[in-house]
Amino acid sequence: MTTRPARRRRPSHARPERQFKPGCVPAPGEFLVWSGNRHFAWLDVPCVLCGRPTSLRSHAGEPAHKVCAEDWIAADPVEARRSGRFASDAQPKKPTSGHA
Ligand SMILES: [Zn+2]
Repeated sequence: MTTRPARRRRPSHARPERQFKPGCVPAPGEFLVWSGNRHFAWLDVPCVLCGRPTSLRSHAGEPAHKVCAEDWIAADPVEARRSGRFASDAQPKKPTSGHA
C-alpha cells in the first residue's frame, strides 16, 4: 500500500501570522501609543519593571505598565531607542485627503 503525502488546503489569501510590529520609540517624556487589544491580556502578571500586576503587554509580550515603560524610556532613552524594547504602535499611513 502506497502512502500519499497528506495534502493540506492552503488558501492563497492565508497570511502566515498576524503582524504586530512596533513603531517608533517615543522621545523621553512623551507617551507610548499602545492602542488595540493586542496590548491587553486577560491574565494579570507582574510587571517586569515594577512588579505589580498588569494586564498590559509590550510588543514583545513583556508584561509592563504603559507608564512604567514610559518611565523606563525616560530613564535611558539611548538604550530605549537602541533596543526598541518598548515602542509605540506602528501608525498606519493615513491617506492625505485634500478636503477643502
Ligand atoms: Zn509596572
